[in-house]
Amino acid sequence: MIISDGMPDRPVEELDFNTPLQVATKPAIDSVADRGASGTMDVIAPGVVPGSDTAHLALFGYNPFEYYSGRGPFEAAGVGIDCRPGDVAFRCNFSTVDEKMRVVDRRAGRIKSGTAELAKAITGMKFEGIEVIFKEATEHRGALVLRGDGLDPRVSDVDPHEQYAMVQECRPLAPQANLTARVVNSFVKESHRILSENQVNMERASKDLPVANAVLPRGAGTLRKLERFETRFGLKASGIAGVSLLKGVFRILGFNSIDVAGATGGLDTDMLAKGAAALKALESSDLVAINIKAPDISGHDGDFAGKVTSIERIDKMVSEIRTGLPSNVLMVMLSDHSTPVSLRNHSADPVCIAMSGKGVRVDGVKKFDEIACSSGMLRGMRGIELMPTVLGVMGRAEKFGA
Ligand code: ZN
Ligand code: ZN
Repeated sequence: MIISDGMPDRPVEELDFNTPLQVATKPAIDSVADRGASGTMDVIAPGVVPGSDTAHLALFGYNPFEYYSGRGPFEAAGVGIDCRPGDVAFRCNFSTVDEKMRVVDRRAGRIKSGTAELAKAITGMKFEGIEVIFKEATEHRGALVLRGDGLDPRVSDVDPHEQYAMVQECRPLAPQANLTARVVNSFVKESHRILSENQVNMERASKDLPVANAVLPRGAGTLRKLERFETRFGLKASGIAGVSLLKGVFRILGFNSIDVAGATGGLDTDMLAKGAAALKALESSDLVAINIKAPDISGHDGDFAGKVTSIERIDKMVSEIRTGLPSNVLMVMLSDHSTPVSLRNHSADPVCIAMSGKGVRVDGVKKFDEIACSSGMLRGMRGIELMPTVLGVMGRAEKFGA
């Protein structure tokens, strides 16, 4: 399952009102459509703009309206915190604040080193019986998990989301969240005290670098109880992604999340290494999912030429994978959502899907793009229906009735 993040688009004026998929040279991707069944799909529902996390949940067969409550738990799982049902998790920034708790630099100068040491100094605290787990992520980012009885994710953000604003007090948005808000405020205060005296920050100050003297949580979410993917579908799954949010989705569903050297989640990611890792993973898994973030990044940057380049690089990866693929493997090409360069953001536009392999009916679609796929056999499918469809094609679905 190859998930090209944010690849579908809208007509681009500079491309003669074609989409990047329509102008890119991509023989390997097209051949999946040519030799199989294609379609366009609403990953969540018509008019719903998917996030990458909710979209991936749907594609793996979990209704996001039922299982999703905030990005925090997925980010936390993605950086390696073993997130459990009932935990309340937040995304965080290391920031620079002045003595009045005004934010001077929301990203602490995009701090690149020393955050593991800073995280170590503030993880493991306990307030009112609630355990506090903190771990650094890439650059200035981090994840905070609260564990204990009586927690509730309905609290406001501490991060004011803008420069020179005051650090916000965490407020309960429901009476049940009073304890959570108090613990967050205690953590922000105590971590500020500890970080201000930390050696890493002393050294940064002596070099005139912004100090990472505060941690600002936002985006609280709780982890809902969910059945592991293998239990639900009887498939042993592996996942390959560069970005921690999606590694978190994989881990929470019980996938084996594979770290690939050179898979950065950026434009420079080593796609061929990801493809090779996917082929290797197929030896011991029933399902292998790869997420390629690059087209989404170009979409957010408004960079249509960059998006075309990303698609052509993905095509090389698909070509390598196809060459090494055993004949009994079903290949599914799709995206989690559209990220049109004209919007620089995700949209509710349907995504393209194509699948080829033994047992798949072949429709008349020859090319993999937004327009060609819309006349294919799989049109109108929802994301949540993908897993049952795949199981059906593979002869693993159970009969309903006699
Ligand atoms: Zn995405
Ligand atoms: Zn995106």
